[in-house]
Amino acid sequence: MKIAEEIAVSRVEKEAGNAEQTKAEQTLDPERWEAFRALAHRMVDDMVDHTSGLREQPAWQQPPVDVKQAIRNEPLPMEGQSAEQVYDDYLKLVQPYTNGNRHPRAWGWVRGNGTPLAAMAEMLSASINAHLGGGEQSPTYVEERCLQWLAEVMEMPAGTTGILVSGGTMANLLGLAVARDARAGFDVRQEGLAGHERLTVYASSETHMWARKSMDVLGMGAEQLREIPVDDDFRVDVDRLRAQIREDRTAGMRPIAVIGNAGTVNSGAVDDLPALAALCREENLWLHVDGAFGALLKLSDRYASLVRGVELADSLAFDLHKWMYLPFEIGCLLVADAAAHRAAFASTASYLEGNKRGVLATGLYFSDRGIELTRGFKALKLWMSLKAHGLRAFAAQIEQNMEQAQFLEERAAQEPALELLTPRTMNVVCFRYRGDGGRDEAFCNALNRELVIRLQESGEFVVSGTELGGRYALRVANTNHRSRMQDFEDLVQATLRIGRELDGVMKV
Ligand SMILES: *Cc1c(COP(=O)(O)O)cnc(C)c1O
Repeated sequence: MKIAEEIAVSRVEKEAGNAEQTKAEQTLDPERWEAFRALAHRMVDDMVDHTSGLREQPAWQQPPVDVKQAIRNEPLPMEGQSAEQVYDDYLKLVQPYTNGNRHPRAWGWVRGNGTPLAAMAEMLSASINAHLGGGEQSPTYVEERCLQWLAEVMEMPAGTTGILVSGGTMANLLGLAVARDARAGFDVRQEGLAGHERLTVYASSETHMWARKSMDVLGMGAEQLREIPVDDDFRVDVDRLRAQIREDRTAGMRPIAVIGNAGTVNSGAVDDLPALAALCREENLWLHVDGAFGALLKLSDRYASLVRGVELADSLAFDLHKWMYLPFEIGCLLVADAAAHRAAFASTASYLEGNKRGVLATGLYFSDRGIELTRGFKALKLWMSLKAHGLRAFAAQIEQNMEQAQFLEERAAQEPALELLTPRTMNVVCFRYRGDGGRDEAFCNALNRELVIRLQESGEFVVSGTELGGRYALRVANTNHRSRMQDFEDLVQATLRIGRELDGVMKV
């Protein structure tokens, strides 16, 4: 029976029943569970078809005008329609038109693909709808165990506590909040910042924009983020950093924290973390490390030394939806000093009072380690993925991405018409088309900007661009578990072809 017919039948039945009752009692559960089951099976089948056939699909296609209009002009639905019709809308209007990061040839910004198993875990997680404020339930223990595993991978000290959050921005923000409260020298949570000396934080000029945003949100002010120049390898200049700290102290400010990068967003540069840790010890500052994707190199015996010193962080933020390939959203904050972590966020409320028995009996409240109270069960996709694939599979996947990046780097270096713009430290390759080298910088920048867009519009590749020392580069950040070596050769060929075309027709 078609869903519409079933609904009609069930309405008749319901109305017949209603005649005897004064008021029908409503629920959002399906009226016919069997019809729902059929639709749910179809959704899973379609999802598997779609995901297994990604390579045959365009990497990106712009939503057509009629699709955008259908979404934007739809009035607020007051009456429902069948779930089947709504699902058809999803298939037609939504599924084909995303930013493309699931595709084997997508390397733009830093975005993971997601995995089929973790997608199913998301479905399971939504179906049990567990509330991860904490409490006496298996999901609490699953998240806590995952956090311990992650602390072990990152070689953080015993007693480290953590929390899963929406992503790197949130994990970094929370880490900086812990730093602020631990090093301000007064009770920021109670008193606020007014009337106190200015709190300053130090980071390289290559640090991701979360840092400025967080300084603002945490009330310290973006101006108090001291952006320290980098060396030729885009690593923070530690001498300049030390000098700035001294200067600020002399000027009556209160330096509280240094942010170290384990893989900058632009070029994958890794600051000298052991040197930053030593400096922080000398100056009694908090070391927060942003390891959004780079910290995951800790998984690989071969490459862990590239991010040496991550484990020295007082707080460490990283993503699991980038180089752990899990579907959005999932990031992690680890804090070496559990008491400092708790002190930054714990609050008491009588309606959440813990007991020795009953639903809230664990004494383990994730709401004491961050700012959210109601939290979803993000840990399930991590737990199932780690158990099913094993840590070694993730390590091998990361190593494959490194080899692919190395291949692309070598190919770009071999081609006279291409130019590498940074030394590659990890999975990020920045290069540009320079033709025969006879063009000025302004022309090169304009050409390469256009090249990035043309590659995207071709539907063959999603790469992004960035500016490095005033030079515009194509940027490939490889956190893709679906790419093959040939995809990178094809990118080189497409870049050469489109670059030559543009060189012939563009004027500045
Ligand atoms: C992606 C990224 C962030 C932000 O993480 P989100 O998960 O996008 O919020 C922070 N720092 C670096 C180095 C990143 O690459």
